[in-house]
Order: sequence, then structure tokens, then C-alpha cells
Amino acid sequence: MRTVEKARAKLNLGLDTPFRHGDGKIEWNMLMTSIDLGDYVEIETQEGEGISVNCNRVFLPLDQRNLAYQAALLLKEKYKMHQQVNIVIRKSIPVAAGMGGGSSDAAAVIRGLNRLWKLHMTEQEMATFGLQLDSDVPYCVYSKTAMVTGKGNQIDLMPKLPKMFFVIVKPSVSVSTPEILNKIDYDALTHVDMNALVKAVRTQDYDNIIEHMGNVLEPLSSSKHAEIKRIKNKFKKYGADIAQMSGTGPTVFGVCKTENQAKRVFNSMRGFCSEVYIVRAL
Ligand code: ATP
Repeated sequence: MRTVEKARAKLNLGLDTPFRHGDGKIEWNMLMTSIDLGDYVEIETQEGEGISVNCNRVFLPLDQRNLAYQAALLLKEKYKMHQQVNIVIRKSIPVAAGMGGGSSDAAAVIRGLNRLWKLHMTEQEMATFGLQLDSDVPYCVYSKTAMVTGKGNQIDLMPKLPKMFFVIVKPSVSVSTPEILNKIDYDALTHVDMNALVKAVRTQDYDNIIEHMGNVLEPLSSSKHAEIKRIKNKFKKYGADIAQMSGTGPTVFGVCKTENQAKRVFNSMRGFCSEVYIVRAL
């Protein structure tokens, strides 16, 4: 039996954190959206016992360090499934970019095995199951526009975004997520007005979305990687309505209201960045 799942990348229109829990986990307050840039995850089950992962990005680990592998292993154990699982990831999402690539692959494996093994898990059950892998996995089970709170486990689906376009730049630097998260100084954060951002999405108000976007982690990542600030300035210069870092970075995305505006920004950004994408909000 075989299925292919699309694992979409995510962007954070809003990212904030009010506190850290006693167990070290972060309390999140995030407005996320998924974009039409993604990996294809092929999942095949057959007679046998093991798990294999293959990927077109040769530098990625293919063993238990791969989140897709971990998802298959945990699901196999939970449901006592005695079958071989073969996973092939055709990766397009930039790695370690703040776009949730590993989490989205893991969510794709959960969705795919849920179907192949007829486990009848609801989306909410898959999301709860996925939380043990990473805080972004529950959101990635849905991969829609959503408000994410708690430790990443509370997902409130939102209406689709109004018509808008994202130009995405992935600088060549790598950011360590744990390193950035460990640097958060809760007394120094300038919080995002998430209620205003949610209201703007609910009322499909493009200008208010732009006004209230924010990522509290951006100053932390950009103090270490000057490239992030440089790219934001270029976005401003070339006419994006706003530019913001996604997740812990280093990816920066510019937002445009019209397709022509986005194309102009895309062509300008391509002049000096090697990894640039243009996508429409889903
Ligand atoms: P996070 O913010 O959760 O760290 P990210 O979106 O910034 O995620 P990913 O592309 O998920 O970045 O990669 C983060 C790390 O996870 C990488 O160092 C990579 O080795 C590891 N990883 C494990 N499985 C995967 C996978 N299937 N795809 C990408 N990276 C993976």
C-alpha cells in the first residue's frame, strides 16, 4: 500500500510567547499560515518490520534523527503495527529555515499512515499525537491558517487570508532553533498585538494584517545574523508592504497586495539572493 502526502511549509505572520513553562516548554501565541511550497512525502507499507527514509537532500539524517522516521516509529509502537514503512521525501522546503519543514514531513507521515493503516484518528487526535515530536507538528497536521497557542497543541482554525502574495528569501546562514529559544529574555520582549492581528484576518483586512504582524524572535536572530536585517531593508527598498522573519529564521518573507507588485519584488530580490520564492497565500 502506498500514498503520497504534500507537506507544506509554514510562515509566521505573528509569533509571540508570553512565558516559558516549568518543564522548559514554551507557551506560544502564533498566527501561522501554510504556503504552496512543500515537500512530497511518499509512504509505503509492506510486509516486514523496519523503517527506511530516503531523501533528495543528501545531508539530512535518514535515521531516528529524522522527524518523519520518528513519526512512523511512534505510530507503529502505539498501534502495534507489524509492517515495514518506507518513506521517500522529495524536499523543496529549505532546511533549518524557520519554515517548519521537518515538522511538516512528520505530520505528513502521521496523516499518511493514519489512512494506510485505517487508524481512524481525527485531525485533533493526530495533532495531539504529533506534539510529542515537535511543537510545530500539531499545526502541520492541519496546515491551514490558524492561531496556535499552548505548547503548540491548541489549534484554532482561521478563515483563509485575503488575496496576498509572499516573496520568500532564505539566506545561506543556518540558525539553531534551541539556541535562539534559550536566549529569550521575557522582560525585554515587545509583544505582538495578536488580538488585533486575529481580528484583521477575520475581517480580511489586508492593511491591518500588515500593521499588526510581528515576530518577537526577530531581534534575537538578527542580532546574530546581520543578513536578516539586510534582507529586510532590501524588501523595503524594493516595495514590499512589510518584511518579517519566519519562526526562528533566517528566512525572511515580504508581503505584497498584488501579483505584479510581488513579481517586481521577486525579480529585484533575485538579483542578490540565490534562494528566492514567490507564492500566493492559500
Ligand atoms: P525548527 O524551527 O523546528 O527547528 P525549521 O523549520 O527551522 O524547524 P527544519 O527544516 O525542520 O527547520 O530542520 C531543523 C532540523 O531538523 C535540521 O537540522 C534537520 O537536520 C532536522 N530534521 C529532522 N528531520 C527533518 C526533515 N524531515 N526535514 C528537515 N529537517 C529535518
